[in-house]
Amino acid sequence: MTSNSNAAITLLDVVESIRNVPDFPIPGIQFKDITTAIKRPEIFRYMLDQTAAYYQNMGITKVVGIESRGFILGGALAARLNAGFVPIRKPGKLPAPTFSKSYSLEYGENILHIHQDALETNDVVLLHDDLLATGGSAKAAIELIRNFAVKSIHVNFICELSFLNGAAQIGEGIEVFSLVKF
Ligand code: AMP
Repeated sequence: MTSNSNAAITLLDVVESIRNVPDFPIPGIQFKDITTAIKRPEIFRYMLDQTAAYYQNMGITKVVGIESRGFILGGALAARLNAGFVPIRKPGKLPAPTFSKSYSLEYGENILHIHQDALETNDVVLLHDDLLATGGSAKAAIELIRNFAVKSIHVNFICELSFLNGAAQIGEGIEVFSLVKF
């Protein structure tokens, strides 16, 4: 194996590298902590390689990442796909005029913002976040992206908590790819 090879890494390694933290941030939530995965270069690169390979020929022009864990792989993916990167952020972070959308997540409420000049009608968008739980964040992000009447929207997660059925929140005609499902 060369130092550039991911030959020895499998999806099982990705699953096993994600730390489960019970009762965080509130009792009853099992938190999937990706920091234990992304600190390992071979795992980080495997996640990037697999996801970039999936989207390689889809003409993605912008990767949209949801704050904050969506920025980690999202930025790297954008560079790998020769796409631009657009952040969707929590209130008070983006400096120029924004569109906003309130939403609920597995453990609380939030509002998401996107700059009003972030996307264009000819963009092919890849929305990325670390994890799909109830789908509230992704649904709100898709509604923000729809403000721009872009050509198409693809949605990607590192992890999907299938038992929460968050994929049902993502509209018809939007294809979802999750690297690992729990
Ligand atoms: P949701 O909107 O319910 O799909 O929640 C997804 C967002 O909340 C993502 O940005 C995740 O980072 C975070 N999140 C929700 N539940 C979890 C969990 N069990 N473990 C890790 N992150 C989570």
